[in-house]
Amino acid sequence: MQGLMMHGALTLGAILDRAERITPGSAVVSRGSDRAVHRGTYGELAPRARRLAAGLRDLGVPADARVATLMWNQREHLEAYYGVPARGAVVHTLNPRLSPAELAHIADHAEDEAIIVDASLLEVLGAVRSRRDFRHVIVAGGDAPHGTIAYEDLLATEDPGAPPVAQDDELAAAVLCYTSGTTGNPKGVLYSHRSLVLHAMGLAMADSFAIGEADTVLPVVPMFHVNAWGLPFACPMTGAGLVLPGRFLDAQSLLELLTAERVTFTAGVPTVWLALLERLDEAPGTHDLSALRCMLVGGSAAPMGLIEAFERRHGLYVLQGWGMTEMCPVGSIGRLPVAMADAPAEDRLAYRARQGQPVPFVEIRARHEGGAVPWDGATMGELEVRGPTVASAYLGGEGADRFTDDGWFRTGDIVTIDPTGCIEITDREKDLIKSGGEWISSVALENALMAHPSVAEAAVIAVPDPRWQERPLACVVVRPGHAPTPEELRERLSADFPSWWLPDRVEFVDEIPRTATGKFKKSVLRDRFAGGGAP
Ligand code: ADP
Repeated sequence: MQGLMMHGALTLGAILDRAERITPGSAVVSRGSDRAVHRGTYGELAPRARRLAAGLRDLGVPADARVATLMWNQREHLEAYYGVPARGAVVHTLNPRLSPAELAHIADHAEDEAIIVDASLLEVLGAVRSRRDFRHVIVAGGDAPHGTIAYEDLLATEDPGAPPVAQDDELAAAVLCYTSGTTGNPKGVLYSHRSLVLHAMGLAMADSFAIGEADTVLPVVPMFHVNAWGLPFACPMTGAGLVLPGRFLDAQSLLELLTAERVTFTAGVPTVWLALLERLDEAPGTHDLSALRCMLVGGSAAPMGLIEAFERRHGLYVLQGWGMTEMCPVGSIGRLPVAMADAPAEDRLAYRARQGQPVPFVEIRARHEGGAVPWDGATMGELEVRGPTVASAYLGGEGADRFTDDGWFRTGDIVTIDPTGCIEITDREKDLIKSGGEWISSVALENALMAHPSVAEAAVIAVPDPRWQERPLACVVVRPGHAPTPEELRERLSADFPSWWLPDRVEFVDEIPRTATGKFKKSVLRDRFAGGGAP
C-alpha cells in the first residue's frame, strides 16, 4: 500500500523561495575584492538569482548547460548557486588555485558553456582561455573587459517572478564539482537537487551543526570547494544569515568579520584555524568572539592540540566534520555523545579528535581484503559509504572501481569504527605505511609529532625498505626558535607507539607542500625523499 502524501520536490528553488518569503530580512554580508562590505538580504538575493537565470536564458545558454564559476565567497557566487539551476542549468564551481592546464582540462571535461568570473580572477581566466575558451564570459565584482559581459548588465532584465525553468524534478543535476585530485585525476561529482537539500537538512540538525534562524554563519571554506560544505544551502533553508569573506582569508581579515558581524558559526580547514589561533595567542582577549558558538574544522584531521588550545586558551568550541567531494560533502560529525558527557576530559578530547558518527542516512562499513571489519575501535579497514547524499558514479563514468558491486562507495580512507559507529581515520589508502606486513598509521604519527611543542607541522610518508617493504619517514617543520633533534622526537613518540612504528628518518623541511585545497601533498615529499612512489 502506498502512502497518501504529496510529492513536493526537494529542490534548491524551494530553499530560496522559503528564504525569500519567510526570512527575507536575514542578512547576506559580502566582502568585495576592494574590501568594501556589501550588506544585502535573502529578500534581495532571490530576485537577483531569478534575473540571473533569465539573463542566461536570454543569452542563449540552454537549460542543461554547464555554467562555470571562478569566484570567491561573494554574493554573486551565492546568486549563481541558485540562479544557474533556476535556468535549469548546472553550476560548475572551479577552484582558482588549480593550474591553468588543470582548469582547462576540467572545463573541457564538463563541457562548460559559459563562465561567471570575479574581476580579480580575470588573469587566471586569461591563462585558461589560451587553452580552452568559453562561449560567454560574464564578469562580476569589477569592470568587464571588451568582449565580455558585465554581470550587472546581465541582471538588468525584469524579475521574471518565477524561475525560467520549473524545478519539479528533484533528481535533476544542480551543481558539479570535481574532486581535488589528491588521489589521481580530478573526477566530476554531479549533485542532484535532492542530494543537496537532504544534505542541507542533515547539517542543520541539532546534533549536526544546529543551524537556525538565530545564526550568522561565516564559511571560510571556499564556495569552489564542495559547495562550501553545504552552508550556502543550509543557511537560506533555515533563515540563518551568511557572511561571505571574499578573497580575504587571512587571520586578521577573518577576525574583523567574525567580531563585527557577531558570527555564531564558522567553518574551515585546519590551516585557517591554526593561523587564527596564532593571531589570538599574540593578543589574547582583544577580540570579542563571545557570539561564536562553534568553529567547524574539516577537510583534514583536526589536530587534538588545536581543539584543546582554542577551548582552553580562548573559550572557543571546535567541532570536527569529515567528508568528501563525493558526499556533498559531510559524512560524519565528531560531536560528543551524551554517554560521554561525564568522561574524563582527556577521553572527551580524544573522542572529539576523531571523525565522529555518520550523519542520518549515511550508512558506513569498513572492509579489509574483502571481509567486513568489526566495529571494535581497533581493526583497520577501508571505509565504504552509501546513502542519498553519496555519488553513484562519476561524470563520464571514470573511476568505476570506486563503486562496489553491491552499491557502496569506496572512500579510500583507512579507518577504525568503534561500537557506537564513531569513525577514526588512520590514513588514506595510498598514504598507509605497510611495514613487515603490518599497517602503520601515518596520521597517528603526525598527530603525535604535531603535539610536540617544537613542531609546527609534520607529515609522515612511507619510504621503500629492502627488509620491511616500507618504513616511515617524518618530515618536520620546526617552530621558530626551537631546534629539536630526531632522537628527541623519536623519544617522544616512543611513549605512545611500539618501537617498530617509530620513523627511522626525520627530515627537517621549511614547509609541507600542499594541494590547491590546503591538504598535505605527500606525493611531493615521496618524490623528494623516497625516490618516487607517487601514484
Ligand atoms: P581529495 O579526495 O581530492 O583530497 P576531498 O576534498 O573530497 O578531495 O577530500 C576528501 C578526503 O579528505 C577524505 O577522504 C579524507 O581523507 C580527508 N578528510 C576530510 N575531512 C577529514 C577529517 N575531518 N579528518 C581527516 N581527514 C579528512
